[in-house]
Amino acid sequence: MVEVAAEIGTTVQTVGVLGAGIMGSGIAHVFACAGFDVLLCDVEQKILDRAVSLIRANLGREASKGRLNASEIEPILGHISTSVDRRVLNRADFAIEAASERFDVKADIFRALDRILPEGAVLATNTSSISITKLAATTHRSAQVIGMHFFNPVPKMELVEVVRSPATSEKTFELVKALALKLGKTPVAVNDAPGFVSNRVLMPLINEAAYAVMEGVATPEAVDQVFKLGMAHPMGPLTLADLIGLDVCVDILKVLQEGFGDPKYRPCPLLVEMVEAGSLGRKSGRGFYSYGSQAGDSARH
Ligand code: NAD
Repeated sequence: MVEVAAEIGTTVQTVGVLGAGIMGSGIAHVFACAGFDVLLCDVEQKILDRAVSLIRANLGREASKGRLNASEIEPILGHISTSVDRRVLNRADFAIEAASERFDVKADIFRALDRILPEGAVLATNTSSISITKLAATTHRSAQVIGMHFFNPVPKMELVEVVRSPATSEKTFELVKALALKLGKTPVAVNDAPGFVSNRVLMPLINEAAYAVMEGVATPEAVDQVFKLGMAHPMGPLTLADLIGLDVCVDILKVLQEGFGDPKYRPCPLLVEMVEAGSLGRKSGRGFYSYGSQAGDSARH
């Protein structure tokens, strides 16, 4: 593995990250910290500017905790350049897509990146649930397509779920495993299936927790307390849902419902209603809880 990692140091220097939301900015953060040059793309410059500000603030927080020297912040940010034109990714040795969790959005990106990226470049996706096999089929490089599923917040979470389609080559798999190790993460290999392992198991829990609130069985705080105190979860499922984004949760549940053809994954109507009302969780300032000056306060549903 060390040998592969050493090889990667020379074969992958420039990393393209498409999508600069919660996950894309975290992914850009960890690649830049590991010394890679990052090309971060999104559809609007103001999203990219917000992502860079967020990365700067998060690096500042790491420095204040003594995990980083403050003098390293600007050099790390110097590794990140931003663009609304995805054609800049023709310089990338490796690219990862972290755009919205919709097959049509990702398929459009995959078709475009297949044309833009250099021939040998690996194209990864950070999708939480969408079929890697189907995304690979939109390209002419299915052996070089793979899932590289980071967790939120990316700088903190150790796991990378590495998802292989039947077409993914061993070389692609080894490269992504070694990249994850180079970022200080632990890669865990799984095969392609809706939601992989993480969200196939997690999303029904979050969905059922939302049903418990909707049916008046318990408040969000009570549901979360049950899991924190009774099951030793570091945070309850509804706090976690707010962190992930309720829109992302609904999108993943729809992928599970369609992928397995099983109504048990049907998104809870309360989750759907909250997303329609713009209560997306932490990122919108309100979900099961309110996040403002009163962070952590419960919202009423
Ligand atoms: P987000 O809504 O915060 O960000 C998505 C970004 O993609 C937005 O900035 C949007 O402008 C951009 N985008 C949309 N279409 C685009 C296009 N055509 N080209 C470039 N950019 C485009 O979402 P997120 O939470 O960062 O999720 C991104 C991906 O990561 C999804 O596939 C999601 O399932 C996955 N994921 C999310 C989490 C989580 O906890 N939020 C965890 C693991 C994986």
